[in-house]
Amino acid sequence: MNIILLGPPGAGKGTQAERLVASRGMVQMSTGDMLRAEKNAGTELGDRIKAVMDAGELVSDEIVSALIDNCLAALKPEQGAIFDGYPRTAAQAGTLDEILGNNGRRLDHVIELHVDEDKLVTRIVGRYTCATCGAGYHDMFKQPKVAGTCDVCGGHEFKRRADDNEQTVRTRMAEYRAKTAPVIPIYEARGILTRIDGMADIDTVSAAIAAVLDGTQTKA
Ligand code: ADP
Ligand code: AMP
Repeated sequence: MNIILLGPPGAGKGTQAERLVASRGMVQMSTGDMLRAEKNAGTELGDRIKAVMDAGELVSDEIVSALIDNCLAALKPEQGAIFDGYPRTAAQAGTLDEILGNNGRRLDHVIELHVDEDKLVTRIVGRYTCATCGAGYHDMFKQPKVAGTCDVCGGHEFKRRADDNEQTVRTRMAEYRAKTAPVIPIYEARGILTRIDGMADIDTVSAAIAAVLDGTQTKA
């Protein structure tokens, strides 16, 4: 099964992808994570990417689609893909169809996490991750069970993203509205889009996604 988790920054895509990886053995394909890895590698491409990401703007379609193409080709046929943060433009949506087709795959579900934009700044500014395993946390909404210790790997180092500040978040949301929201009707027209209330608590959102994947919920 191949699915897209769609929604603005802070909607909960990464949080839900992490759970699907654990519960269903699917593979998370986060272009944001791939780009951060490239940025941290300190290559010339990484430096160019850093400037764009730090400004909250979108990296070029060619760069991100090449990253997705490479990762998908490396998947085993039985592994399902969760696209998280991709596609972010109509052009990327078209390229994803081609890449999936070239790999003998198709898109089964697009899940839109519908959220109240005014609440997203709080979500993003409070976000942090385990520096060792990448597990996601939040200052208010998802704290580790033991303060200062990662629930997943027991690590004690945590980090915050350079672009998770209020100024950049506003630009990222504007980019979402202008360039990413227009992909929603494309998938709606294909009958594979389901809209879920992303403002519900994390467990409720997970249950709603499970109902879609298991075919026990009607589509939007
Ligand atoms: P995205 O990947 O869509 O940018 P994240 O999954 O990283 O968003 O979520 C952003 C922050 O909000 C994280 O710190 C996460 O722990 C928290 N979060 C995610 N889903 C919810 C939710 N349903 N309710 C409250 N907080 C949430
Ligand atoms: P994310 O981790 O999904 O919040 O993405 C962080 C940043 O990476 C975005 O603000 C963009 O600068 C860049 N990015 C991630 N995915 C894409 C994509 N599919 N297309 C263009 N830019 C992207």
